[in-house]
Amino acid sequence: MSAETKTDRPYLLERVGDAAIVQIYADGFEHLSLRDKILCWHLSQAALAGRDIYYDQRYAHNLTMRRVLEAVLTHPSATDPAVLDAITHYTKLFWIHTGPFNNLTARKFVLSCTPDAFAVAVKNAAADGAPLPLEADESIDQLLARLYGPLFDKDFEPIVTNKSPGAGADILKSSSNNLYVGLEMADLDGFEERFPLNSRLVKTAGGLVEEPYRIGGKYSDQIAFIVEHLEAAIPHATEAMAEALRALVTFYRTGETADRRAYDIAWVRDQHSTVDTMNGFIEVYMDARGVKGSWEALVYYVHPEKTAAAQAIAEHAQWFEDRMPWDPKYRKPKVTGVTARAIEVVMESGDAAPMTPIGVNLPNDQEIRETYGSKSVSLSNVTEAYEKSTPREYRKEFAWSQEEVDRAEQWAAFAGELTTNLHEIIGHGSGQVSAALNGAPEKALKEHSSAIEEARADLVALYFVADPYLAAIGVVPAESQDDIVLAEYEAYARNALVQLRRIREGTQIEEDHMRNRQLVVHWLLANTSALTVSTRDSKTYYRVTSRHEFREGAGRLLAEVQRIRAEGDYEAASTLLDTYGVHFDAALRDEIVGRVDRLDLASYTAFVMPKLTPLRDARGEIVDVEITYPKDFATQMLEYGQV
Ligand SMILES: [Zn+2]
Repeated sequence: MSAETKTDRPYLLERVGDAAIVQIYADGFEHLSLRDKILCWHLSQAALAGRDIYYDQRYAHNLTMRRVLEAVLTHPSATDPAVLDAITHYTKLFWIHTGPFNNLTARKFVLSCTPDAFAVAVKNAAADGAPLPLEADESIDQLLARLYGPLFDKDFEPIVTNKSPGAGADILKSSSNNLYVGLEMADLDGFEERFPLNSRLVKTAGGLVEEPYRIGGKYSDQIAFIVEHLEAAIPHATEAMAEALRALVTFYRTGETADRRAYDIAWVRDQHSTVDTMNGFIEVYMDARGVKGSWEALVYYVHPEKTAAAQAIAEHAQWFEDRMPWDPKYRKPKVTGVTARAIEVVMESGDAAPMTPIGVNLPNDQEIRETYGSKSVSLSNVTEAYEKSTPREYRKEFAWSQEEVDRAEQWAAFAGELTTNLHEIIGHGSGQVSAALNGAPEKALKEHSSAIEEARADLVALYFVADPYLAAIGVVPAESQDDIVLAEYEAYARNALVQLRRIREGTQIEEDHMRNRQLVVHWLLANTSALTVSTRDSKTYYRVTSRHEFREGAGRLLAEVQRIRAEGDYEAASTLLDTYGVHFDAALRDEIVGRVDRLDLASYTAFVMPKLTPLRDARGEIVDVEITYPKDFATQMLEYGQV
């Protein structure tokens, strides 16, 4: 760090509509060994090399749209300032959400200037020398006509992923992402996918065609670049990590499920390297079926002190498993190698950025988790950046009493990190499913699979955060555990209310983590006396009335959620989510939006990554890698766009 100190450096950089843009800092990078720094550099390049894959997966028009928008932003001189403002605002949202669909509501947002004004801006940029993504013999007007629907028409391809399209409608046909072309669910009857996680399915006159993502297949160019950077990283990696990277390269070449499994296993076995990466087709939230992986990459290194606390929980995984409040036949007799680490991210790309998770537990393959275990990470510097950029009025507005505010100020950050650890390390890693499901409950639970799994992991955390055993193993101070538990339950209840601000249209939630939080809180409201709804000055509050009832209720719901997953009970999942998780009251949402807007609070946060720069000697060898913080979102996005 140069002139700035840790305490006065800026976190919140700007507001874009209801989004906050926040800088992530990676303290300690300077102190890594040169070898680890160089490793981070090559892995970061591999992360950026795949960024366009996710753009294309999310929407077939995304890359063309991005190139046109970036052409205007980099060649602005002749364009009317008001029009340029509108285009800049839209482009920032487009970058934040990787395309024109809001990440949280799944709905389309559109450009606010007129199509004519936009056409003038694009032509100005072209006249100024900006390259445009024109097809052969295509005029600028034809290009703009092709992009009219995606840019300006809210009703054209309106929802990226629609898991609840309503009676009679098809989940694939109603979803505008690029994972399927021309298909509906019925087309999949009797069709066996050879590359379920890593392919696009296209319906042609001759039947369904599977396009595997691999070298020589779909995204061949991008994947070849990823592989080039991974291969450059291998000489700087530990032996265990090098083995995992070689397996990943093999998988990127063949696309075969057996090679992906070999990679997952090698990746789980690498437990001690200081630097690590996730790189591949990983999370399945964007697929209405919950099968196809969105491409993402993270590069990070371990945070030693915070890792000690996470590891203490991981070491007692079997103790928690033996006491899961569900049918003993769905407990694992032997929990295998859960590794937990607190990390500092230096690069996130694809589905993991610019909006990022705070915790990740992989691999997702249930069978590998059961046999080989999993690795869980909590993103310390992301959590820190969230904390430091959140205004204090935020809690005050939604807390019922001053005691609740005080409790939150003292304990919410601590409790949040603890429950994130329990969610990732114990929650996702726990339980076993009926043998009849062949280790793949997601096939039976379909579009409800992700929300049910998130609910399961949250409920494990809410149930065990109140267990005295946590104090016994030194993870929480015994004398403060009651306050910590209450602070967590209160924050969880507030969150169910406050998160409604993110869905400014409609009365239905699409995002799986949000569905899960609504499910938990509304189930507790309906079935226990843990919570109550109170109003004061026409403001709604969710209050925790009994810590004990809350824990007991979370345990009961957890037993049912685990049963649903273990038995693949689609009907029960459907009913549970439909009753408690998907729908909400528009009047309540409007009230929350009003309160949030009066305080000018952001609804969600996007992050600016650190920037790594290799310093080379006369022979071109890297002699150091410098880390800097760009603190400007547009600059970073435009830079990434040129890679
Ligand atoms: Zn989770």
